Amino acid sequence: MTSNNEDSFNSITSISELRKIVQQARLSGKKIGVVPTMGALHAGHLSLIQEALARTDIVVVTLFVNPTQFSPDEDFGNYPRPVEEDLKKCKEAGAHLVFHPDVSEIYPEDAYTTVSVNTISEKLEGQFRPTHFDGVTTVVMKLFNIVLPDVAFFGQKDYQQQLLIKRMVKDLNVPVEVIACPTIRDPDGLAMSSRNQYLSKQERETALLVPESLKLAEKMLLDGEEDFDKIKDAMKKLLTSSDEVKVDYVSLAHPETLEELKQVQPEIVALVATYVGSTRLIDNRIIHLSSISSNQ
Ligand code: AMP
Repeated sequence: MTSNNEDSFNSITSISELRKIVQQARLSGKKIGVVPTMGALHAGHLSLIQEALARTDIVVVTLFVNPTQFSPDEDFGNYPRPVEEDLKKCKEAGAHLVFHPDVSEIYPEDAYTTVSVNTISEKLEGQFRPTHFDGVTTVVMKLFNIVLPDVAFFGQKDYQQQLLIKRMVKDLNVPVEVIACPTIRDPDGLAMSSRNQYLSKQERETALLVPESLKLAEKMLLDGEEDFDKIKDAMKKLLTSSDEVKVDYVSLAHPETLEELKQVQPEIVALVATYVGSTRLIDNRIIHLSSISSNQ
């Protein structure tokens, strides 16, 4: 299916058609940007589209709820799929192409090949969602091979994911520049997420504990606290001050390797994963301790 709107917006479901259009653009010297998403677009996704428009000539947004990154007990079936609304948002945002294939277009048959980035993928999210990242890296590699973009845009909201994609591109010599864009938040601080719509009014209030726990870690570090276990305990205590919260992990990690840190360094990433009710939320914050020298 293709819909042409004033020759600048195309909505496409077939790989061959997408390849044809992108190839034409590439041959005329255009720089291609891709923004991979699972749809249910919000201002966070739109910020990636804006960044892509600023840095590339043709912006391809992919809307694909990727089954292989969900485990059987997760929300694949219920994941929101407001395709018409998403297409409208992409068009209004100025994207040029939206690729929203069926599952059968991306996975026509059982595949024998998986892209797996080891070590970093086994930590944090990998501990709780062991098959998730292989699904992510495999589908992103497939999308890269379908679109052949020059630049790809990801959110820092999914910190571990963008790190894995950067690593995959480096390790496999994929000729794509990966740019991580800042997390967009609601005015009260909650990171935007397609899953926020699952939250009841009460849970939405409670969910603020997630960004607050990250700010608490930052405050404690800036105030000179050096006992990381103490900081993580304080984060957990704050999070579990509501019965609705179940903590999967809190982490104070090295921003590149995600190794758990034991002592202060100039840049630390604080990461949190929790359930609020039955909704799983993740968030992170990079903490800069400018007074600490890097060889400490
Ligand atoms: P998703 O549709 O959840 O798979 O997200 C698609 C892309 O949007 C990923 O690169 C996410 O990291 C990014 N993203 C999701 N939420 C936000 C946000 N609040 N701010 C910035 N980027 C986001």
